[in-house]
Parts: sequence; structure tokens; C-alpha cells
Amino acid sequence: MSRLVGAAYKARQALEQGVPLLVTAALGAAATLSSEPPSLLHYVGGAACLVALGAWHMRARKRAVDDLERTLADLELIALALVAVVGAALGLDGHLDGPAHGAVYVVIGLAAALARPASTALGLVVLATLEGSFRMFSGRVTPNLAPLLWHVGFAAIFALLNHITLRAEIGRLRVKAQRQVEQELERLHDAARRYRLLGAPRTQHGSKADEERLARSSVEEIHQAVLFALDLVRNTLGLHTAMLLWLNESGSHLRIAELSTEGEVLDGPFLSGDGVLGAALARKDRVTLAGLKPGYKLPYYGGACPVGAVCVLPVLEQKELRGLLVADRVAPGPFTEREQEVLASAVRQAVRAISNERLFIQLERAKVEQGKLYRASEALGAAINEAEVVEAAVRSAREFASFDFAAVTVYDPHDDTHEIRAVSGDGAEPLLGARFHSNNGLVSMVVQNRHTLPYKGELEERCQVVFSDRLQMPPMASVLVLPLMVHDRPLGTLVLGARRRGVFGDAVRPTLEVLARHVAVSLANARMLKKLEDLATTDGLTGLLNKRALLDMAASKLAAAHRFRRKLSVVVTDIDFFKKVNDTYGHDVGDMVIKGLGEVLRRCKRNTDSVARFGGEEFVVLCEETDSQGAMLLAERIREELGRTVFPTPKGPLRVTCSLGIATFPEAGKDWDTLFKSADEALYASKHGGRNRSTAWSPSAKKSSAA
Ligand code: GH3
Ligand code: MG
Ligand code: MG
Repeated sequence: MSRLVGAAYKARQALEQGVPLLVTAALGAAATLSSEPPSLLHYVGGAACLVALGAWHMRARKRAVDDLERTLADLELIALALVAVVGAALGLDGHLDGPAHGAVYVVIGLAAALARPASTALGLVVLATLEGSFRMFSGRVTPNLAPLLWHVGFAAIFALLNHITLRAEIGRLRVKAQRQVEQELERLHDAARRYRLLGAPRTQHGSKADEERLARSSVEEIHQAVLFALDLVRNTLGLHTAMLLWLNESGSHLRIAELSTEGEVLDGPFLSGDGVLGAALARKDRVTLAGLKPGYKLPYYGGACPVGAVCVLPVLEQKELRGLLVADRVAPGPFTEREQEVLASAVRQAVRAISNERLFIQLERAKVEQGKLYRASEALGAAINEAEVVEAAVRSAREFASFDFAAVTVYDPHDDTHEIRAVSGDGAEPLLGARFHSNNGLVSMVVQNRHTLPYKGELEERCQVVFSDRLQMPPMASVLVLPLMVHDRPLGTLVLGARRRGVFGDAVRPTLEVLARHVAVSLANARMLKKLEDLATTDGLTGLLNKRALLDMAASKLAAAHRFRRKLSVVVTDIDFFKKVNDTYGHDVGDMVIKGLGEVLRRCKRNTDSVARFGGEEFVVLCEETDSQGAMLLAERIREELGRTVFPTPKGPLRVTCSLGIATFPEAGKDWDTLFKSADEALYASKHGGRNRSTAWSPSAKKSSAA
């Protein structure tokens, strides 16, 4: 049965490669030739049919590279439709009920078994329609539907049976083949573990697959090298069996790792305490036996002992016992010292092959790790603000470990608090932006001790606090809190959590620590950049915007006001008789007053207003979507608030007043210079009018003012 299925499988492949087109073409040619007497028309028809098929075939092939599925479907359909045409051609020749015509349906049936059901159905419909209409309307054949139904029924049953049986068999074969592949992979995986080629289990799927691929090719290398050595000693020393046995992890059993023998050897595993093997393991030294009788029991032979002498050598890697090399031969004479030396060099060869491959894998692993770190540092380097750094940090960490929760905390040494700046993972959202004081949670401890915690990446108790008692992170079996350190200064922590256990083992921790250092440096850089930006745009004394920043803002706000036809008001303030304040109380008090006015402005303005210290004791407020009256209300609020403010000085309490000028876009000016000049004119009017008042610019010479 399985041979039959194999043939069917091949047939399907052939079908997918366009063979049915050729079969159809041949059939078409045969049909043309079979007519009696064959006329020129038939030859021409046959040839044209072949040319057309060839052309179709070429085209379909070309397209197969792009869209194989569609092309195959097309091919099948075309094949079926063409068979239909052949059928019709046969019919035209009066052979509709002849045996050749039946063969057409056999071909259809076979094709149907292997083609997609939709193509089959369509082909059958085309064929039946063609034949049916021919029978009904040609007049050359009796309008008898019975043969048609027979043929179609036959084809349909054939197709159905084939679909059911062949497909099931093909499926079974596929499963079997897959299982074989899996077993082979499992075997290689075992060998890789045996030779310690695989690191601790990786958590990232991609890198795990890469590692295994790497390990598999190394296993193959070791296999080649060790087998070569075993074959060599077997041939040169005339051995019956030469094999490498490897201890399992607990050391209780030995398995055959590589084998070169001319007889039959049991599969094992063998108890590591048994007989001559156990003796060699226990002594960690060579054991040789000679003059063995058939009754002697060697654990790896089933029946009578086929050999007369055996030599067992321990396989040591850096003094660690890993396994045994076993050599035996039929001749009962003992292994000479020189022969034992040859065997010992085979052991060295095997050990070297294994450690070379392990080294190679370590190098490859380091290369991959370095590549990832390089990409991470690129991503972190490109991040210019804190949010971007934090985002890149979490994204990069995913390259090294798979986790379900991530957060970045930032430490503020001034008030000894931590703030959760970024979170990622289910149920993490509520933690965002939360602050907590230093406590005995993991984050606080990491900042304090500057070491990664918990030590093994596992929470010792499920209830161990990560942030604070109040701020619980979703339950995780594995947690890692990494310090973000720059020059011994803790900026905060990177917190990772995973629901599975053992995610943050020794294989990933060192790399994550390197990543955390990168993150910390980027975070410090982002902060520095922010500070520089702030320095460039804010006024040192008041913390408000400086003149340059306000001019930038005014340009964009004016453009928006233009575009959306909105009002925009400018309020200019100037402290009255400020020189006197300086002269009487000194510059420090003067500065305090300037600062005080800054605070008044900050308190009085709306969120959408921008305030800048324009120079000296002059301030400007830019009010979006505010007309002259609105700006006047603000100006008055400012004036009154300042008037109420008392500044304590060594010479007693001090009160100051200010004058304000208001100008509104577009009436008072369409560009900044004009608008500001108008506000200044209004301010001048306030000063001129007796100070401690607000004046709004108006087009008429008379200015409206309030005091
Ligand atoms: P007026 O009512 O006409 O405005 O009189 P005024 O004395 O306030 O005159 P003006 O506005 O021209 O005075 C500005 C003075 O502000 C000049 C300068 O001594 C003082 N000043 C400018 N910048 C600072 C500063 O940063 N700190 C201090 N303490 N004084 C400043
Ligand atoms: Mg002034
Ligand atoms: Mg002044």
C-alpha cells in the first residue's frame, strides 16, 4: 500500500510540475492521429494544441516563482479544460462512445484525485457541458445522455475515492516523515547537551533556535572528528570495538556517544558502577584486562564475550570525569603500553574536538550578544529625551530576555523618592507616574546598594515588595531589578518581571547589567540635554521663559492667529520707580521683587498664556485667543496682586506697583514688531498717566486706561 501511495505522491508532484499538461497534449495528439482517415486538419490541430500547451506551460512556470499556489491551480484547471476539448474533438470524429473517450475520463479521474477540489469540479463541469451540448445539438451522435452520465459518474467516484484514500495516506506519510525529523533533532539536541554545547536555556525564541542550530552543527563536527579517531585506532590496533561512552548528568549511567565496531553492541545505557567500566570510572585511570573467556561479562555485549582483551580509559576535561573510551579486541594478549598511549591520544583528540566546538559556540554566542548590544546602544544613543531612552531601554531588554513586565524608576535624591516613569505589560498601567519614598522594597534597596537584586533573579517569597506596600506589581515568579548607574551615582532602576520561573538566570543577567549601564548613560545624557535646553530658554532668576524663547513662541502663535483668524494679546509690565527700590534697598531686594512679580504673573496667567522676563524688570505675557478686554482683566489682576504683595526687607516691609500696556492682534499690529511697539506705547501711556495702571492700545490717539 505504502509503495502505491509513494507512487501517488510522486504523481502529485509530477502534476504540480506540469506533467498533466504534457499528458493532455499527448492525448490531444493521439486523438488527432486516431481519427480515420487522419486529415491535415487533425495534424495542424494536434500541433497547435501542443504549441499552446507549451506556451501555457512556460508562462505558468515563470509565474510559479512569484505565486506558486495560484499557478498550480491555473495549471490544473487548464489541464482539465483541455482534456475536455480533447473529448469534444474525439466526439466530433464520431468516437464519443469509443474506448479512447473513456480513457479521457480516466485521466480526468486521476487528475481529479490529485488536483484541488475546486479545479476538479470546474473541469468536470466544463467537460460535461461540452460533451452534453455536443450530444444534444451536433446531430452526429444520438442524443443519448446515458454514456455521458456514466463517464461523469465514473470520474467523480474515482476522484472521490482517490481524494479520501490517497490524501489520508499522504497525510500519514507526512506525519511519519515529520516524526523522523523530530527524532533526529532530539538526538542531536541530546548530544549537544551531553557535550555541554548548549548554554543555560535561553528565553528568547529566536536566539534559542539560533543556538540550537549552532549546537547541532557542532555536534556534527564532533561526531566526524571522534568517529574518525575511533575508526583510526580500531584499524591500526586491530580492535573489535572502539567507542566513546558519556556519563549522564547525575553520573549514574553511561551512554554510547560514538561507536566504531565490527560486531553487535547493546544500545545501553550502562550502569556506571558496573564491572570494568565502573572500575575505570572509580579509579579515574586506565583499566586493561586480557585473556578474557567467553563467559566473561562485558556490559555492552549481549551474549558470550566475543573479545579476549579490553582497555578502558577515562575521559577527563579539566580534571572532570566526562566518560570513557573503550577498546577491545579478539586477541587475548594484553594491550601494550604503546597501544595504550595510542588510545590515550584518541581520547585527547576527542576531548579537543569537543572543547574546540564549545569554544567556537561561545565565540559565536558572544558575537550575537555583541551585535544585540551594539543595536541597543545605537537605539539608546538615538534617544534624545527621557521618554525615548526609557522606551528604547525596554525594547532593547526584550532582545536579551523575554519578560511580561517592565518598568523604569527614577530616583530623586533631594526628597529620597522614586518615581515610576515607564511601564510595559498587562496590569502595569496604574503604576505609571506613581511615586514612593525609599523603603525596604527591592527598588529602594537596589538604589541604595547599587547591586542587581534579587540575587538569583527569583523572588524568594511571593510577597516580597518591589516598589512599595501600596504599589504592587502584578504577580511574577521571576523578577530582576537592575541599578541604572552613572559614575557610581544611581539614577534609578530597570525592573523586569516574568511569570515563568528562572527567566533571569546567569545566562542573561550579565548582559542585562551591561544594558542597564548603557541605559543609565543615555538617561544622564538626555537629562543633560534637557538642562541645556532649559538654560537656553528660561530665565535664571524667575524660571520663566527668556526673551529669545518668547520671541520664538510669539512667531508661531502669531502665525496660528493669522491662519485661524484669532485674537492674540500682548501684555507688557514694568515696575514703577524700580531704580528707587534698587537704590534704597539694594540689588538683592530688587532681585527679590523681580522674582516676586514673576510669581504673581505665574499665578495670574492662564494655562495657555506664556510669560517671559523680557529684560530687567520688564515682563511680557502672550495671551492666546484673548481680546483686548480679556487682556485688560488679566493686566488688572496682575496689577492688583502685585500691589497687595508685601516684600520683607531689612528696612521694613516693601510694596511696589507696576504699570502695564496691552496690544491686541490684529488691530494693534499684524506682525510682532508692530504689536510689541503698540504694547510699549500703551505702557508708556500708563507711566505717563501716573503709573500703577493698565492701558490698552487703541487706534485713536486717545488710549483707554484703567487704574
Ligand atoms: P519707571 O517707573 O519709569 O519704570 O521707573 P524705573 O525706575 O522703574 O525705570 P526703568 O524701568 O527704566 O528702570 C529699570 C531699572 O531696573 C534699571 C536697573 O537698575 C534695574 N534693573 C534692571 N535689571 C535688574 C535686575 O536684574 N535686578 C535688579 N535688582 N535691578 C535691575
Ligand atoms: Mg523698565
Ligand atoms: Mg520701571
